Amino acid sequence: MYFLTEEESRWLLKHLIPRAREEGVANELRGWNWHDSPLEPPYDIRLTVSEVAGKYCPTGRDLFLKRVERVESQPSAAMLMGTACHSAVAQLIEQAKRLIYLKGPEDLDGIATGLRKFQPQITLPENLAENQGALVRERVQKICDFEVPRILGKISETLAKQPYSACDSLVAQAIPVICEQKLDGRFLGLSPILSCDSAFFGGAVIYDVKFGQKRDFHRLGVTAYGMVMESLWEFPVDIGCIVYVDLRGSVPVITRDLFLIDDELRQWFIDERDEKMRMLYEERDPGVAEECPEYCGYYALCRGGARVQ
Ligand code: SF4
Repeated sequence: MYFLTEEESRWLLKHLIPRAREEGVANELRGWNWHDSPLEPPYDIRLTVSEVAGKYCPTGRDLFLKRVERVESQPSAAMLMGTACHSAVAQLIEQAKRLIYLKGPEDLDGIATGLRKFQPQITLPENLAENQGALVRERVQKICDFEVPRILGKISETLAKQPYSACDSLVAQAIPVICEQKLDGRFLGLSPILSCDSAFFGGAVIYDVKFGQKRDFHRLGVTAYGMVMESLWEFPVDIGCIVYVDLRGSVPVITRDLFLIDDELRQWFIDERDEKMRMLYEERDPGVAEECPEYCGYYALCRGGARVQ
C-alpha cells in the first residue's frame, strides 16, 4: 500500500518536492511555531486528530455527544472493516522487518517462507454478524495475498542493488515505512498518544490508508500529523499521501492522493481545531445535521430509527 509506483515516485521527486521548495510554507503555519499565534491552542483541551479532522458529521455533533454528553457510539461495520484491514497491513510490514532481523539478508528464502505463512491477528467484536466477520477475514486475506509479494519484491530488489546490506540497512531501504508511529500532539492542542504512518522518500511523507470513499477532509488528518511532527522535531513536513484501497473486486484497486501540506490545509486544520475546542469549552450543542450518514454511530440517538450497517 505504501510503495509508490515508478510514475508516482517521479511525480513526487520531480514535481511535488521541487514545488514545496519553491512555494514554501508561511513560517507561522509550521508546527514548530506552536507557541505563537495562530498555532497556539486557544483552550486547554486535548483533541484526537480524528476529532478535528473526521468531518463525517456535518455539524460536529458527534464530538459534542462523545465529549460533553459522554455517549459512546458503536463502530459501524465499515469502521470495523477499515480498522481490521489497516491493522493487517501494519502487522505485515512489522513482520517483514522482524523476519529480516531474525533470518538475516542472506536467508531470503526463510524471510519469504515466514512472511507467506504469517496470518495477521484480527480481533472482532463478539456480537458481529457471522457473514460480516467472514467478509472482514476474506478482505484481510486479500490484502495479505497482494502485499506479501510486493514486500518480498522490494527486499529482493534492494538486495540485488546492494548485496552487502546488513539487516538495519536492508530494512531502511526496502521497507522505509513506520506504521503506527506514536506522536505527542500536545504542542498543538492534540492528544499525547497520536498514531500515524509515515515513510521517507526523499523527505518525510505522512501516509493515511483509507478503505472507504474518498473525502476532501481526509487531507486534514494528514496535515495535522505533519504539523505535529514539525512541532516535535523542527524539520519541515511538506508532503502527504492518502492511499485509497478498494477491496470489493478480486484484487485491491489502489489510488494514491499525493499532495502538498500547504498553507491552505494548515489554516483549515487550525480553524477546525479552534472551532471544535470552542464548542467543547462552551458545551454548545451544534444541533442535528440536515443530512446524516446512515452509518453514523449516533444516528438512532439524533434522528430515531436504526442506522444502516
Ligand atoms: S446522526 Fe447526524 S447529527 Fe447526529 S452525530 Fe451523526 S451525523 Fe451528526
